[in-house]
Amino acid sequence: MLLAIDIGGTKTFMGIFDTELKSLKKLRTPKDLPLWKFILGNIDSDVDTISIATMGPLVISEGKIINNPHLPTKNQELARPLMEVLGRPVYIINDASAGAWAEYKAYGCQDLVYVAFGTGIGVGVIVDGHLLLGKDGNAHEFGHVTLDLNSSLICGCGGKGHAEALLGGNNLPKLAASNGIEVDSSAKFFEEIYAGNKTLYSVFRDALLSFISSLSNAYDPECIVLGGGVFEKHKELYMNILRHLNRYEGIVVRVPKIKPAKFGELSALYGAAFLAVDKPKHWISKLTYLKTNSLSLD
Ligand SMILES: [Zn+2]
Repeated sequence: MLLAIDIGGTKTFMGIFDTELKSLKKLRTPKDLPLWKFILGNIDSDVDTISIATMGPLVISEGKIINNPHLPTKNQELARPLMEVLGRPVYIINDASAGAWAEYKAYGCQDLVYVAFGTGIGVGVIVDGHLLLGKDGNAHEFGHVTLDLNSSLICGCGGKGHAEALLGGNNLPKLAASNGIEVDSSAKFFEEIYAGNKTLYSVFRDALLSFISSLSNAYDPECIVLGGGVFEKHKELYMNILRHLNRYEGIVVRVPKIKPAKFGELSALYGAAFLAVDKPKHWISKLTYLKTNSLSLD
């Protein structure tokens, strides 16, 4: 049996894949426990293979997370200790790359960008039917693209005016505060917009259009698929704003179709499962820790 896992900044999903998804668990991602111990403590059936989609950035050759803006311990070993304890192959992939793979399978679109709007922002990219990975599995950390160099908003990574600093769920209250409006959560941020706050609507709209047009210019996708927890709650608002993408003056490529994720919040979980079944060669060949016999937990 295959256990697929999606570790996000706030939530972790775990599910057994047989012919279909079974035994889905939704857990809170811990802040005070190494992630591999947390995963190990929640495995309660006998599994042959584990495939993990996780927030990054990653060094996929070593199966670990580095420089993560959402974890108190920014650098964490993940795949190797689990493999050592369980004696089973443990695959790892960036969560948004996994999400892109699942949506590519669902939509059959050969040139696709997947964007997860959640605690932060994840981006996964398929170009010409090929999953982009990069040297360490981070070919698409596009949430950390600079949208506003003069912004006072500092991203979790330390960068100024990054897309995630403006549009990441955790940062929406700061975006409101920088425009003189106090809200204490992303939910309140959207309530203000729905109540008719024109200032918040226009800063959110401009940041979203700027971000999606930059993504379009970078990858020339046929489809941009949107998902993630924050998007799922406010789908209509995002989709309505992006209907105007064709009129945004910063877009130089043919405008892509904007679609909601077919797997909803579970794109990364399904993607982790599909990847472990498909095993694209260029991905597996990067997971060099799989070949290591003697492992150290340092
Ligand atoms: Zn950043």
